[in-house]
Amino acid sequence: MRFSVLASGSRGNAALVRSDGPALLIDLGVSPRLLESRRGELGASGHPIAAALLTHTHSDHVDDAALRWLGQQSIVFYCHEAHRSKLSRLTGFQELDAKGLVRHYDQRPWLAPNGMQVEAIPLSHDDHPTFGFRIEARNRQAVRKVRSVGYVADTGIWTEQTVEALLDVDVLGVEFNHDVGLQQNSTRPAFLIGRVLGRRGHLSNDQGGELIEAVVERSGRRGLQAVVLLHLSQDCNHPELARSAAVAALRRAGHRAKVLVATQDAPLEYGGVSGQAGSRAVRSGARTARVVSQVVAGRVDHGRLFPE
Ligand SMILES: [Zn+2]
Ligand SMILES: [Zn+2]
Repeated sequence: MRFSVLASGSRGNAALVRSDGPALLIDLGVSPRLLESRRGELGASGHPIAAALLTHTHSDHVDDAALRWLGQQSIVFYCHEAHRSKLSRLTGFQELDAKGLVRHYDQRPWLAPNGMQVEAIPLSHDDHPTFGFRIEARNRQAVRKVRSVGYVADTGIWTEQTVEALLDVDVLGVEFNHDVGLQQNSTRPAFLIGRVLGRRGHLSNDQGGELIEAVVERSGRRGLQAVVLLHLSQDCNHPELARSAAVAALRRAGHRAKVLVATQDAPLEYGGVSGQAGSRAVRSGARTARVVSQVVAGRVDHGRLFPE
């Protein structure tokens, strides 16, 4: 399996989990045009999509035009039943529903149309309910290839249940939204700072690091191959700060894993230790793929502040 982040942050989120068969898309918070161009940058334009999974209904995770794009291609859309009331305002959702393409998930693991097993992980966010996902390939692949991916973003806290759901994943996408000091000293309105730092806001670099540490310490010997840092705030974080928090957490847990920082402006992909592609980030300007271990610099975000 390969885990690709097409975009991550308050201006839009979308990720792909794919193997030889059709892929799963996690969230649709960008325009169809951007979805297509980012897939193209990863060389995945022709790769079919079996289904899209929605984490929650904030506008940086679901775009009306992207829902319409799904419907045009008859791609199945999975959301929680409690998401329906907000989604039903979107014409793209209405069209999907009319075509019979909407499915509901609950907290029981289910099989996606491409044969991957998916489990929703309940999170704590101010769009209730919000979920992360654990996605497993059903066929047992060679050791050191990616067989399972965890995806946890848009949550103010993590719990034992979160750790339990992520044990032994090969790749963990985890929210590193902000640096607490930068958040507290930002020029943002007090209510927004309170929201982001609250139990239903977003994970800080420290909280994200502690989650990685807890997952690594309780997982078996196989262990994490890579962590992908998600949903970085562009005005209250910096890729280097997030990256050092993740590296420090792995060091505390005595574990080595690749650390990749997802950004708003370019896609990245992790394909396993001995996978064909390895990990790479693709710079949209140069259109060249390269192996990276360093951070791709972010830009200052003057986009929307709430909700995200
Ligand atoms: Zn968000
Ligand atoms: Zn959100």
